[in-house]
Amino acid sequence: MATSQRARALALLAGEPFDLLVIGGGINGAGIARDAAMRGLRTALVEHADFASGTSSRSSKLIHGGLRYLQEGDVRLVLEACRERERLRRLAPHLVRPQEFVFPIYRGGPVGRVKLAAGLWAYDLLAGWWNVHRHKMLSARATHAAEPALRTDGLRGAGRYWDCRTDDARLVLENVLGAIRDGAVAVSYARVTALVKEDGRISGATIVDRLGGTEVRVRARVVVNATGPWVDTITALDEPASPRLRLTKGVHLVVPRARVGNRAAVVLHAVADRRVMFVIPWGEHAVVGTTDTDHPGGPDAPPVVEASDVAYLLETVNHYFPAARLTPRDVTSTFAGLRPLIAPPAGAEVSPSSVSREEDVFVSRAGLVSIAGGKLTTYRLVAANVVDRVVDALRKAGVGRKFGRCRTSDVPLPGGETAPAVLAHAAISRDGHGLAPAVIGHLAHRYGSRLGEVLGLVAGDRALGAPLAAPLPDPRAEVVEAVRHEWAQTLEDVLRRRTQVALRDPSEGVAAADEVARLMGETLGWDAPTTADAVARYAATIEAGRRWR
Ligand SMILES: Cc1cc2nc3c(=O)[nH]c(=O)nc-3n(C[C@H](O)[C@H](O)[C@H](O)COP(=O)(O)OP(=O)(O)OC[C@H]3O[C@@H](n4cnc5c(N)ncnc54)[C@H](O)[C@@H]3O)c2cc1C
Repeated sequence: MATSQRARALALLAGEPFDLLVIGGGINGAGIARDAAMRGLRTALVEHADFASGTSSRSSKLIHGGLRYLQEGDVRLVLEACRERERLRRLAPHLVRPQEFVFPIYRGGPVGRVKLAAGLWAYDLLAGWWNVHRHKMLSARATHAAEPALRTDGLRGAGRYWDCRTDDARLVLENVLGAIRDGAVAVSYARVTALVKEDGRISGATIVDRLGGTEVRVRARVVVNATGPWVDTITALDEPASPRLRLTKGVHLVVPRARVGNRAAVVLHAVADRRVMFVIPWGEHAVVGTTDTDHPGGPDAPPVVEASDVAYLLETVNHYFPAARLTPRDVTSTFAGLRPLIAPPAGAEVSPSSVSREEDVFVSRAGLVSIAGGKLTTYRLVAANVVDRVVDALRKAGVGRKFGRCRTSDVPLPGGETAPAVLAHAAISRDGHGLAPAVIGHLAHRYGSRLGEVLGLVAGDRALGAPLAAPLPDPRAEVVEAVRHEWAQTLEDVLRRRTQVALRDPSEGVAAADEVARLMGETLGWDAPTTADAVARYAATIEAGRRWR
């Protein structure tokens, strides 16, 4: 977002009071802001860093019914998640796509054939009309044919079922863009430092613009705390309260898929402790994850990838895919996130993996609405529930205006209006502006019906069609798009969350950093020292993330 547009948004924050101020631009905050703006609430959204820079860009990137929750008897959660999975496929076909899973069964393993068949049958039943495809049980031979690289020793067969995968950071971004389209004011790199109260009721917040250094006081009738792992930090600005969250760390590795050899996403039981983990295909790469360990440092201590996390994940991949023989040197990149889980009652002995994934919405005496826990998959439902409460609070506060009903289950997310295959076909058969069909296909899945914005940039300057980091398909035009229309402010915003080049490129985007900084600087008006500083900061961040190596 060009500097002047950001300045305008900051000025609007300081103006007329809002109906709703949402703190936190992860999936929950972005979903709430969009829902509220669509219902006609004057809405503001502020995010401490980049949109989705918290947990919401560090997930396993699955939109799933949660087969695991079935085992725990949480039928309602599975039912809701299956329905949301289907809705999101419809509302954002460019971002939410079917993904085949193979769940192998091994002699002596924790899950036998009968139990798995029963579980998958129930999973299909709960999904009902909203199912992606029905499951199938495979013999050992059929499993070998489907996943030839999988260990055959002790293999008894497998269950094949379907969930969906997504681009988590972009799901957040499309919600932010949708909220803005419907009239919300959204600003990233804006941190809430204090809550404002009048007569004992929350009436706004103090925000520091982390890029310009100025302080803004935002007035709002209702404030929602959607800060994920930081929920307790914001709650403490309101009143002393015992912490509600238990933070656990989840680490993922990105490795070359050719080395692993998996075709579908494969469900594995970790060798060390039999926890469920996944190897998920991601283009030329596979994402391996995740770990689940307590994170005692609090939300401000970044989740750091340790050599032991890498060893834990590689041990399991190498066991089930014996030809992979992956070593830490083979890891292309890593990412780690914090799960903001609702802490079990004091004294209860619960392992990190057994802590409930359900969300909790709670309201303080001063009226601060907080949302914690939950999943990417069910964010839309959570947002609808929170906005219902906000509307109730506005009515109680005497706001007489009429607000519309929740429409997020019907109105596509930005980019989701047309199927990406249709968009790509149309663009290829017109003039691809020199871009290979595979690159246009990649762009159609990333931008959906906003594809024309990026192709228009290449039409204006063919040099923007060149790849940022060959052989990856991402053209340079994506940097310009990210800055002009998608609020990117730093190299990490572009390389990690708008394009994910940092996750798929062996240099983690460092080789492309000079060019990205040049392109960003042209739009953001950076001088030479600022550009050099941006490159140095990016390189330092990548270096810090590699300390485990
Ligand atoms: C390893 C892992 C794997 C997962 N995999 C899946 C999956 O595959 N599918 C699924 O459905 N779910 C998954 N989840 C769960 C899902 O990712 C989270 O539930 C979800 O992203 C939480 O979103 P959030 O908006 O609550 O928090 P966040 O995304 O963390 O957003 C909170 C935001 O608040 C901002 N903030 C904090 N303090 C302030 C302040 N003072 N002022 C302004 N802003 C502030 C932060 O910068 C942050 O961006 C996974 C989670 C983890 C950790």
